[in-house]
Parts: sequence; C-alpha cells; structure tokens
Amino acid sequence: MSDMLGGADAGKPSLFEIVAQHKMGGLLEPALRHVTSVYAHRYPRYLVRVLNWHEEAYAALMLLVERHYLRNYGASFTEHFYGTKRVRTRTIGGDNSLTRADMWRSLAFLVGLPLAKSRLDQLYDRLSGGEAARLLGDAFAARDRPAEEAAEAGPAAGLRQRLASVRAVATRLFIRYYAHANFAYHAATLLYYVAYMFDRTDYNSPWLHILGLQVRRLSAADYRAMDARGPTTSSLAAPPNGTALRATRNLVARLLAGGLDALKALLPLSIFFYRFLEWWYRSDFHRKIQQAPVPPPPMPPRPHPDGLAVPEDQSLCPICEKPRTNPAMAPSGYVFCYPCIHRHVAGAGTCPVTLARTRPADIRKLYTDA
Ligand SMILES: [Zn+2]
Repeated sequence: MSDMLGGADAGKPSLFEIVAQHKMGGLLEPALRHVTSVYAHRYPRYLVRVLNWHEEAYAALMLLVERHYLRNYGASFTEHFYGTKRVRTRTIGGDNSLTRADMWRSLAFLVGLPLAKSRLDQLYDRLSGGEAARLLGDAFAARDRPAEEAAEAGPAAGLRQRLASVRAVATRLFIRYYAHANFAYHAATLLYYVAYMFDRTDYNSPWLHILGLQVRRLSAADYRAMDARGPTTSSLAAPPNGTALRATRNLVARLLAGGLDALKALLPLSIFFYRFLEWWYRSDFHRKIQQAPVPPPPMPPRPHPDGLAVPEDQSLCPICEKPRTNPAMAPSGYVFCYPCIHRHVAGAGTCPVTLARTRPADIRKLYTDA
C-alpha cells in the first residue's frame, strides 16, 4: 500500500522503512542497558554507577554517535543504517544539505526529547502512584505531603509555605495534564504515519516537520560522494607539519571516528544479542541444558568377610534371623531389630555386618519399615 500510494517519488522511503528505523532506535536503549547490567554484576565498582544513571549515560553516548552520523552522513544513526538521509525542505541556494543549526536542532530532537520524555514518564509514575493508581483510580494516588512545617512562625516559614503550595499546585496540574500531553504525543506520531502513508505529507514525524527536514533515500550520487570522501575524514585533514600534540590529537580523533563507524555493525549486533538473551531466558531450552545432574547413589555398604551374613530374605534381621521388629539402622545402612542392634553395638562397638566402628548413639530408628 505504501508503495502504491507513494507515487512516482523514488527517493521517498516507504512507511515500512520508517517504522523499522523507529523500532530499531527504540531497541538500542534496552539492549545496551541489558549488556551493561550483565557486566555490572561482574564489575560492580565501575559499572553500577553507569547503570544507575543509565538514561543519562545512554543520552551522552547517543549524542556522540548521532553527532558523528549527522555530520558525516547527514542522517541519524538508524536513518543511515537504513540507507536514508535528512535533507532540508527549503533549499538554500539550491543546496538542501544540513546546516550546522539543522544538525544541533536534530540532535535536540534525537537525544534530548527521548531523555526528557523518559524522565517525565518516571516523574508521572512516581507522582501519580504508579500502576495501582492507573488501574484503580485516584483513591490510590499518592497524597500531598501534609503541611506540617506550616506551624513554624517567621518570614522564612511563610516563604517555605508559599513554595510548598506552589509545588502542590504544579504537581496537581502536571498529573492532570501529563496524560493528555502523552496521548497527544502518540496521536501525533500515529497521525503523521497515516498521512505519510497516504502521501499527504513528506514528513514522517511531527518533529521533522518542526525542523523542516525530510528523510530521503540515499541516491547513487550520495554513495559515490561518500566513497570519494572516504570513511569520515572530513574533519581530519590535518597538515603534515603539525606538532606531536596535534598528531596525537589527530590519531585519537581518527580512532574515535573509526570506532563510531564500526557502531554500524556493533549496535545492531547488540540488538541481536539482546533478543537472543530474551529468547534464551524465556524458553525452556536453557533450563533443559542447565538442569543439575542427578547425584549418583551412595556406594553400597560392603559386608565384612568376618561379619554376619545378610539373609536372603531382606525382611529378616541379620542378628536374630527373624522378621524385624521395631526396625533400626546402623550407619553402615543395614537394618536390624532395634533391641538386637542396640545390644550388639553396646557390647562390640561395631556394626555386625561390616564391622565398621559404631556407637549406640549412631543407631537410627526407621519409621517406615524398610
Ligand atoms: Zn533381630
């Protein structure tokens, strides 16, 4: 449908490509969080702090990554991964490539907006009492803190009281309107998807509309230009007569740029790793493999050649050779009548069958007749 309605514009990516891009962007964060948490268990000293500030750490990382890709390829990381780039809707002198300002505005929407939204979501969860409030209504919502400090006198207390009441009002407004804002956010995204699919707009998201940028497929000319430029050398064309410091800085920059280009392969791999772990822990497969082996049975006790012979009929007592009454076991594992074995052990201090050293206290009463 997307292709039928897309019309003659070959440079316009289909909705499926756009949705795939957005989905991939959403998967990167949990994948990295999972990998970090796995390693935080192993190296808690360094990584627990990263895990606690995961969203900020992720935003900082993505700022680096997205800046690199926007500067060198004119696209966000996922857009470049799917062979698309951002272009200006309004060209400046026939050139529609991104300006510096476009790049920074793009970064604000690519990195800042998701971070802010995630933080606000958490705040809303905390203030509104979380799942319980959402499912069961206002009765379970978190109450405003009682204004105990109001009892104090003096101008400082008055100011504090006024601040507290302002805060309470702000909290109430936030709780009331955030859900609506959230709804509007998702509705706008969906609306743009539908409009994009029916070719009513060239922007696949409201943010791109605000920025005045479109996402277009890379053309053959784009690929040729990229090849000619080589891998991310735009900022590295340093003169050969630089100082040692500049040479070092150049090397570090080149290594960093190389690493960021390698992310093209690494980040999708981490998604597959994450998906694999998810499947692994959800399926029964790993439980079958990890099942603890059944411990081998203990060695059977060996009758001593000089000891009593064990009767063929296992229900007989080896000492009196009659059916056992009141069965009791020596530590060797053989079972006798309690009076017989007690009398023997008290006298000889050994098990009558194996001649192993045995004390009367070692005899165990059996409550289920063996
Ligand atoms: Zn007996």
